[in-house]
Amino acid sequence: MDLPPILNRGPVGIDLREIEKRWQEIWQHHPLKSPVAEEAEDNAPLEADSTLRAPSESSAQEVTEEDSPTHEGDLDPSTQPKLGQDQISEDHSSNQGISPQEERHSNDASISEHQEGREDHDAGSGFAENLKSSDETMPLTDRSPEKTPVEDQQRKGPKTFFCLDMFPYPSLDGFSVSQLRGIATNDVVARYQQSRGRRVLRPIGWDSFQASVEEEARQNKISPNQVVERGIERMQKQLRRFGTLVHWDHEVDTSNPKDYRWSQWLFLQLLDKGHVHHDDAGWKVAITDYAEPLHTGLKHLKWPPRTKALQRNWIGRREGCRLILKASSELYDGWEEFDVFCRRIEALPESSFVVLCPEHPLLEQIVDPIQADEVRELQDRTLKLGERERMANRAHSDGVATGAYALNPSTLQHIPIWVSSYVMPDIRFGAILGMPDENEAHKEFAVRHGIPLKAGGQSSSRRRRRPTRRRPGADSGAEKKGLQGSLEVRGVTESYIDYKLHDWVFDRQRFWGVPIPIIECEDCGKVPVPESDLPVRLPDVEELVEVAEGQNPLTAFDDWMQTKCPECGKASLRSSDTMPDWIGSCWGHLRCLDPKNETVIARQELLNIWTPANLCVGGIEHAELHLMYVRFVSHFLADIGMTPRQEPYRRLFNQGRIRSQETDGIDDAEASRRGPRVIAEEYLDRYGADALRLHLLFMGPPQDHSEWSDEGLKGCARFLQRTHETIKGRIGKGKFVSRNVLVAKHRLIRRVSRAIRTFRLNKAVSAFMEFVKLLRGDEFSMEEVDKATLKTFTVLLAPFAPHMAHEIWDLLGEKSDITQEPWPEHSNELLQPTEVQLAVFVNESLVDRMTVELEASKTQVIDQALELKSVKDRTGGKSADRVVHVPDRLLKLIYTESGQEKEQPPEKSAEPFFDPNM
Ligand SMILES: [Zn+2]
Repeated sequence: MDLPPILNRGPVGIDLREIEKRWQEIWQHHPLKSPVAEEAEDNAPLEADSTLRAPSESSAQEVTEEDSPTHEGDLDPSTQPKLGQDQISEDHSSNQGISPQEERHSNDASISEHQEGREDHDAGSGFAENLKSSDETMPLTDRSPEKTPVEDQQRKGPKTFFCLDMFPYPSLDGFSVSQLRGIATNDVVARYQQSRGRRVLRPIGWDSFQASVEEEARQNKISPNQVVERGIERMQKQLRRFGTLVHWDHEVDTSNPKDYRWSQWLFLQLLDKGHVHHDDAGWKVAITDYAEPLHTGLKHLKWPPRTKALQRNWIGRREGCRLILKASSELYDGWEEFDVFCRRIEALPESSFVVLCPEHPLLEQIVDPIQADEVRELQDRTLKLGERERMANRAHSDGVATGAYALNPSTLQHIPIWVSSYVMPDIRFGAILGMPDENEAHKEFAVRHGIPLKAGGQSSSRRRRRPTRRRPGADSGAEKKGLQGSLEVRGVTESYIDYKLHDWVFDRQRFWGVPIPIIECEDCGKVPVPESDLPVRLPDVEELVEVAEGQNPLTAFDDWMQTKCPECGKASLRSSDTMPDWIGSCWGHLRCLDPKNETVIARQELLNIWTPANLCVGGIEHAELHLMYVRFVSHFLADIGMTPRQEPYRRLFNQGRIRSQETDGIDDAEASRRGPRVIAEEYLDRYGADALRLHLLFMGPPQDHSEWSDEGLKGCARFLQRTHETIKGRIGKGKFVSRNVLVAKHRLIRRVSRAIRTFRLNKAVSAFMEFVKLLRGDEFSMEEVDKATLKTFTVLLAPFAPHMAHEIWDLLGEKSDITQEPWPEHSNELLQPTEVQLAVFVNESLVDRMTVELEASKTQVIDQALELKSVKDRTGGKSADRVVHVPDRLLKLIYTESGQEKEQPPEKSAEPFFDPNM
């Protein structure tokens, strides 16, 4: 890929990278203080110190008083726009005479009080409307359905905001641009919440046991540990260079023994509570035990509908009936009972076949000897198929007749029993009741295998029902009751809720993973490693060892394998299985709160305050299984009293992937991993972090996939250079703020705030661009753009382009920390009117006032003025000799002596010009 040339410092441009280097150095020397560490000192001083927690009313009062004299320069009081309270957000002077440390600490409290106070205050004045509605549409606010009064008390300090990136996996190549897009999105939200006075926590976790790590190790002939170490080092650097807000005290590496010990602890807990079982296929975690809470829990989550739908579909909750059927075959002497799931019992008479999974125990007894070979062949084939392959096989499913039949309990007809690999043993009792009338897939199966669509070849006595989808229990209640009732009396059915979800296959035959803490004793069987012996560490290797196919790599480490049975002391072997890749990121977000703790995953008081995470950002590829496992673990930990919340993340955002020209736009995870990963760093070198951040956010709605474009990145870099130049050019020139500037500013505040709250960050970037365009054009004179406007712009820009915002803040002569500046609020009052009032003069006399469209042209305004009765009375409707039009303020019609009689005092001047009620 041709990389565009490095941007030069030209007559117009400034060197973006130089600015960034400077700020990054400063930040490196002043790392973010952990908001969690403040916990201990938090409550006491804040509650004791009444000056920091002033009653909201008085603090709001202070704001207004403090802020009113912020206009620089003079404005003629008669022409000064009626601003009312729109100035509230103008300028919050920083605490002076406090050391930076104290300032940081006290700001945490005072800003939030400030904010709350202002909200209260605003409530009466009308512009709280937006605040309120925004809170409803954007539940980024801390509003948990499960919040208890106790927690409310614990939350008395500034509100917390825990934002999480889905743990990236370490790679020697560093981040991909798609990943950086998610990180940039989260960064904007984190910085915005910080500005809103929240105590923000942004940890970082590395999902280091991913298969891709092992793959890179193999390719580079180094150990996976080295991949993790080098990968993390490079990615940490990238995060710093990207200007990411990260609390480095809260870093977790899931392949670090002190962290993965908790994967092993979790396994032992699951085992202890009976959610783990071991069979011929290996270890399984009974995630199905949590199917119902996982289903109902979705209701409370502010997650993308698409992701929730995927979760719901994966859980596959169905209300229906469990039916006991009888099966037999010509040669089998007797009847065997088995369970099937029936979604609509009233459709049971239409059922024309049954399909069993190849693992079904019934098969041993009932298969007709003529069909036995074929069935066995299918069983062998199925063993070789992966779970996903089997599930995906639906349409082209294989099927073999067993020669056996089942008795349809509603019609007493014999219906054939088939076997197919797409029926899963742990879903719906491993059996499907074929209803070709109801279900397209069933119909396809029947047609493919020549199974009659109607039971017994005779048409049912019932009226033919069209194959419609019905909601369980909808309509036909009476019919259902009748049939179900009679079947229930016969004891062959009961109401039943079934789930498609199946258990989590928990063992991997790989080296790079968390060892399953089990010891295989000849006498005692599978014995859990005692908790005190955790972690069971992986052996150290220089390079991956290759083992024979079918053999677990860990078995190659003799010393490691040899151990003693914890129960009887007999020499035994360790389990050589390792856990699934994702296990670490299932609890890692909790660990982030307290990563140095050696006795628990995280202290209870921290979990109480900080969970669930307010926001988690990650790629859509996690939407199904990964999130299901995270939620399951979270529910389980809540059940055993480890965490106070069942759900891990209140709000979730999935960023879209970025396709690059390099991969020909192929939407392929592997291609996007390899391609733009390397490029991301080179772009940082050439254009700097802020340009890359803006570009990633500007490409389109961040939840959609986007096409990479070098031109777009260049444009963002130029925009930043222009911004710098424009603001620099205006510093010290502003004398006052005109209404137009004020409206533009408040429009910007509204657009940017909305964009963040709705994750439409691209819209915020265009708002910045339009505003800078206004500042650069002839629209606003030098005098009418005051410093407060430039400051507000900079505060808004800070979450998006932090380096540039810091630089401009510095240029503006501001000494305070811009990240601690309160987020500006817009005034609806100011933005609403599309009309303005003009004072109308005839010569030097004020004769009337009129309302005109904001956009009205001078001619339109004059025409409208001439229509006024008060004007007509004086001028007879004649056009003026000269007109002075100050938009938004006044219109002067000037008549020379010849054209106008000597002016008379206005007759109707009793009406005041400035309406006190205005
Ligand atoms: Zn033993």
